[in-house]
Amino acid sequence: MRVGIIGGGAAGLMAAATILETAPEAELFVIERNDGLGKKVIISGGGRCNVTTGIQDVRTVLTKYPRGGKFLSKAMYHFPPADVYAWFEQHGVPLKVEEDLRVFPQSDNGKDIVGVFEKLFRSSRARILLRHAVESVRKEGRGFRIGFKGGETLDVDIVVLTTGGQAYRQTGSAGDGYAFAMSLGHTITKLAASLNAFFTRETWPAEVSGLSFERATIKTKRDKEYSFTGPFLFTHRGVSGPAVFALSSLVAFEQYDTHTPLNITIDLFPDETIDEMMKRMEIAISHAPKKSFLNMCATVVSKSLAEVMLHQLHLPGDVHAGEVSRKNVLRCVQWLKAIPLEVVGRGAGDEFVTAGGVDLSEVDPQTMESKICPGLYFAGEILDVDGYTGGFNLQASWAAGRLAGSSISAKMES
Ligand SMILES: Cc1cc2nc3c(=O)[nH]c(=O)nc-3n(C[C@H](O)[C@H](O)[C@H](O)COP(=O)(O)OP(=O)(O)OC[C@H]3O[C@@H](n4cnc5c(N)ncnc54)[C@H](O)[C@@H]3O)c2cc1C
Repeated sequence: MRVGIIGGGAAGLMAAATILETAPEAELFVIERNDGLGKKVIISGGGRCNVTTGIQDVRTVLTKYPRGGKFLSKAMYHFPPADVYAWFEQHGVPLKVEEDLRVFPQSDNGKDIVGVFEKLFRSSRARILLRHAVESVRKEGRGFRIGFKGGETLDVDIVVLTTGGQAYRQTGSAGDGYAFAMSLGHTITKLAASLNAFFTRETWPAEVSGLSFERATIKTKRDKEYSFTGPFLFTHRGVSGPAVFALSSLVAFEQYDTHTPLNITIDLFPDETIDEMMKRMEIAISHAPKKSFLNMCATVVSKSLAEVMLHQLHLPGDVHAGEVSRKNVLRCVQWLKAIPLEVVGRGAGDEFVTAGGVDLSEVDPQTMESKICPGLYFAGEILDVDGYTGGFNLQASWAAGRLAGSSISAKMES
């Protein structure tokens, strides 16, 4: 049986590897428009490739997908993070779990992850068609005709669509697969950027750009209230970091711009109440009442942020801390517990994943085969599945790619 895997990214590579391991007699074509495999995998995790998560409990892992967690259930139990970990180690890439439970190759080099597949393919009958941009996929009798830029065609019995989403288009994942899926009868749900930084109307974050916090709680409220706690960072245009990415994922389908900003608040001290912070400040002030109020505030947060805060609250920094009224100290504490910002945009093209994709009701979660077009399989970001940062998106791609590959091998046997 001839199998054409369109897209040599995470999901396509794992689907191909699985077919090679379980049905070596298959005639396999891995089709990739770039001149190398797994371009996005290589740049993922800042080039280190956060390959999966160290969370072992599959039920917990499935809660990390704002969309598609339930659909992924079978794929995830079939190839959970622990098995992904073992699979890469068995294929010669030692991994490590970092403190925050993100998993990386010990080499901190994403190329090693893609190298596993390159090595596997070298010693197999698989044909790797690099620099082959697919332009069309048509149903031809019981099989498919894949059309390439330039007019060449390839006939196969089975197609696996793993063209990814449309984030970071320069990596080759430009959203082509959505058109192929639609031409074969599928519905594409609304698409939106997810896992992106926020740009704020306020320009003061630039003054504290680079200032980071291990834990901050970021909140927003529209029809529903969303809140997320995690690492957080000020940038020259707003805010970023895992907590912001997670919130961006929860509000992926909300409209926000200069006319309808998204009001957020940031609590830089999520583990302390206002009362506890007040007590801390008052004790510090009573021990050094002659200290300038600015320097006193700078014992709680960095001096640059203390300056921003006093400016925002129109409070003087050069007075003695002991002379500042309790009410004004409280205003500072309240500000640090709920810094108000207006989000007016996101970095276009800077998002990590695309939310939305092939409608999950049209795909069999037990096999990843289309319910509409027999012989067509999907895996990876092309589906209406997306997760938070922390290795969950690659994990989803490995798991769905594995399940698609196993299902195809099982079909060949029957
Ligand atoms: C900067 C960045 C960092 C990230 N870091 C992480 C991380 O550390 N951990 C994590 O879990 N997730 C991370 N992600 C997300 C993760 O990389 C993706 O979700 C994952 O790669 C999706 O896998 P995929 O196989 O579905 O698609 P992709 O990996 O995007 O692969 C799709 C492939 O299809 C090819 N293709 C597309 N159209 C065609 C066509 N017409 N013809 C031929 N080939 C085509 C593309 O060239 C591409 O190689 C990151 C994303 C980005 C952008």
